[in-house]
Amino acid sequence: MASSQSGCTAVAPVTASTVQTPEGTAEKPLTVGSITNPDSPLPKVPPPGAKIRYNSVHTDQMVLAMTFDDGPHPVNTPKLLDLLKERNIKATFFLVGERVKMHPEIVRRILAEGHEVANHTWTHPSLVSISDEKIRSEFQRTADAIWEAAQYRPHLMRPPFGATNKRIEQFVFNEFGYSSITWSVDPNDWRRPGVQVVANRLIAGAHKGAIMLSHDIHAPTIEAMPQVFDTLLAKGYKFLTVSQLINLEQQSTPVGVIMTPEAEKEKEAAPKASKPKSGNSKARKA
Ligand SMILES: [Zn+2]
Repeated sequence: MASSQSGCTAVAPVTASTVQTPEGTAEKPLTVGSITNPDSPLPKVPPPGAKIRYNSVHTDQMVLAMTFDDGPHPVNTPKLLDLLKERNIKATFFLVGERVKMHPEIVRRILAEGHEVANHTWTHPSLVSISDEKIRSEFQRTADAIWEAAQYRPHLMRPPFGATNKRIEQFVFNEFGYSSITWSVDPNDWRRPGVQVVANRLIAGAHKGAIMLSHDIHAPTIEAMPQVFDTLLAKGYKFLTVSQLINLEQQSTPVGVIMTPEAEKEKEAAPKASKPKSGNSKARKA
């Protein structure tokens, strides 16, 4: 594997300033396999006032989020974690409760390596065809299993099959405080179209603020990832978790500026900074 010489720390870290040029890097020749993702100072939990639903975020920065659904899988998820670690990429995992219960050690590893864990129900039902009581128990059991495995409480959920509606989103937001996360790029990897097709679709679909869907229970999806990661890094994309993306949108900072958590706190403490609490607040146009 290409990882032989790149035990993640051996590779010179790419500083934020080299990757952050929002536009310029896209036109340069790709140097696949030699770039690692820079660390981000953005908070890993959603900010106050996070919206009820996101399928992408509005930003002028070259950032996106990779999301992986339906795990943890005993073989494929650890393989994926290795690939992510080699590149210092942080992803978001929408976990199914039943599998959390079966593989708690993988949940711990996901979190220990800096990724985000989110709630994808206990049995993966379509939320639009079950009762509110059942919806509540699907998320509650999963939240409890994640807590039991890793003492972590998720902040986001994804509806299985993307099947949801405004009423359900509001219900889950009220009950659990979860923002509902769908996606803006879907390679349909669960149909198993082939490794190269999955890679091509993700690379072609990538855009600023994208939330990209994939499933870490399918071996061909994992096989597609080195090419996806390395190509997008070479194009100048920076990978964030979904909650980090949400923070980026919320901050409504000028292009190219990433605020540290400390700076953000100061901003919030300032008397003028009365942020609208409603979930619909859009980033101000400067
Ligand atoms: Zn799913």
